[in-house]
Amino acid sequence: KLVSREFHGEDLNVEVGDVSIGNGKFAVMAGPCAVEDRSMIEESAAFLSEMGVRIIRGGAYKPRTSPYSFQGLGRKGLELLREAADRYGMKTVTEVTGEATLEAVSSLSDIVQIGARNAQNFQLIQRVASCGKPVLLKRGFMNTVEELLLSAEYIAYGGNMSIILCERGIRTFETSTRNTLDISAIPLIKMQSPLPIIADPSHASGRRDLIIPLSRAILAVGADGIEVEVHPRPESALSDSKQSLNFREFERLMQELKSLVDTR
Ligand code: PEP
Ligand code: MN
Repeated sequence: KLVSREFHGEDLNVEVGDVSIGNGKFAVMAGPCAVEDRSMIEESAAFLSEMGVRIIRGGAYKPRTSPYSFQGLGRKGLELLREAADRYGMKTVTEVTGEATLEAVSSLSDIVQIGARNAQNFQLIQRVASCGKPVLLKRGFMNTVEELLLSAEYIAYGGNMSIILCERGIRTFETSTRNTLDISAIPLIKMQSPLPIIADPSHASGRRDLIIPLSRAILAVGADGIEVEVHPRPESALSDSKQSLNFREFERLMQELKSLVDTR
């Protein structure tokens, strides 16, 4: 298989302009769950760039469990994320939820994210493979490691080797966290595949008080980075309020990470 160690022995890095994922660095992709309006994404980008973050996240098309929940700003959200990132020289990552909006997402974002709910939407994945942008592929919460690697294989087979894998927690019987971070998946994937792998402690736990300890674990097992939710005012966030770090908490996380690893 194209994404196996047998086929490609050495670690692969993903280059996003002047930012690389892999390469012995620890990439921090941070930002709000969703782009809510111009001022909050602007405020987030200003703060995050000051913290040394090179890749800002923010959802424009949100896959919400309830149809009554905030669905994201759509194309306007993509534009606001782009505008804020450009002002501070940052790269962007945002999720594509369907083929109809892939053109908009891939033309306005530096990295295209495939979310957990679409981790086995093979038609969408095949389209994303040929969109010309690096892909952040999140593990489905019901997917095995083998299934995740086969989803990645679709992207590679489609001619795109710029793939970043992401462990974001799986469904288990445990109810005290939103999902269960499968920490073993990280070293397991490192053994089986040369692709960079990051983890998302926010969606894995659903709790802001677990983000720092989980990030320590993620770093310790050899991941290439994290994707983490940060909001200027988490208590009033329109989505994932309980798992978003505020600026002060994020600063603590970054200080700790910077003392241990190269986050640039
Ligand atoms: C996200 O990162 O915005 C998200 C919805 O994550 P996941 O697909 O892992 O649930
Ligand atoms: Mn979220």
